[in-house]
Amino acid sequence: MATADLVDLRSDTVTRPTAGMRRAMMDAEVGDDVFGDDPTVNRLQALLAERLGFEAGLFMPSGTQSNLTALMTHCQRGDEVLVGQQAHTYRYEGGGAAVLGSIQPQPLEHEPDGSIALERIAAAIKPDDPHFARTRLLALENTIGGKVLPLPYQHAATDLAHERGLATHLDGARLFNAAVALGVAPHEVATGFDSVSVCLSKGLGAPVGSVLLGSREFIDRARRPRKMLGGSLRQAGVLAAAGIFALEHHVARLAEDHANAQRLADGLRGIEELSVDGPHTNMVFVTVPAASVGALEAFLHGHGILVLARSPTVRLVTHLDVDAAGIERAVAAFRAFFARH
Ligand SMILES: *Cc1c(COP(=O)(O)O)cnc(C)c1O
Repeated sequence: MATADLVDLRSDTVTRPTAGMRRAMMDAEVGDDVFGDDPTVNRLQALLAERLGFEAGLFMPSGTQSNLTALMTHCQRGDEVLVGQQAHTYRYEGGGAAVLGSIQPQPLEHEPDGSIALERIAAAIKPDDPHFARTRLLALENTIGGKVLPLPYQHAATDLAHERGLATHLDGARLFNAAVALGVAPHEVATGFDSVSVCLSKGLGAPVGSVLLGSREFIDRARRPRKMLGGSLRQAGVLAAAGIFALEHHVARLAEDHANAQRLADGLRGIEELSVDGPHTNMVFVTVPAASVGALEAFLHGHGILVLARSPTVRLVTHLDVDAAGIERAVAAFRAFFARH
């Protein structure tokens, strides 16, 4: 099946650069970014810093590297980060904070809304005692599993961290989804954090790239871990141009992805065998009878619908390359499967 006929709901990372984005990449003015000479990288960093209310930004190949660079800039060897059990930085980044940063993660359980209870955070901050690692950083994620953390919660959590002498980092891989869902300016989602990492390669539709934001002093220090981690690029303007295009053209339209996720959830709720969780911004989770997961995934694939099945839950993510007709096809394929099984 041609890729154009596929409805790929595995992730919002699967988007391909649009014709306009490719033109912007081709036309990008470039220079050697390690010398600070790439005007397009500089423009992207300044644009995002301005939009999110920070002094400076630093472009990197991936969100994983951007988060790890942030953690290594905030924490020294033997310091500790408080982080959610389900947080990408803790669970899905190969343990990089511990392996490469010598930073001890203290994972904390989430509440059903994705937040970490303030009492839980407070209780996990270690006293200054040689028995303990030095608790140095609180890292939150918004959106998390598609769920938007409420801004008053974020303010309370970052206030608590700062009162106790901790720094704060936000994994804002999908920060713009949160802003669009809340109907607020993107900088409001970043308020209270000393650093924020944003992905350009998720719902924003760029092929590559994340940006770390912080104070000028923080970003200057972050250049060293970025270099150590192999993230200092040369004529990276060809990539940054895609990011600028995404920020100019693909932010407001995230609302369409959220509407499509709603359509998808509504359609799937009509199927008796499924338990539907969501939509949460651009994500829907469906729990399927465990014995059916493998067969369902294969059946959907045969009908040109790709999903991420982690038994018994199937994750469905909407994005730039899936339209309402694609959603109808996906719902119809789910229905056809359960009509036979
Ligand atoms: C995708 C993602 C990352 C990492 O980004 P990569 O570019 O895939 O390394 C970090 N945090 C969250 C919440 C993500 O969804």
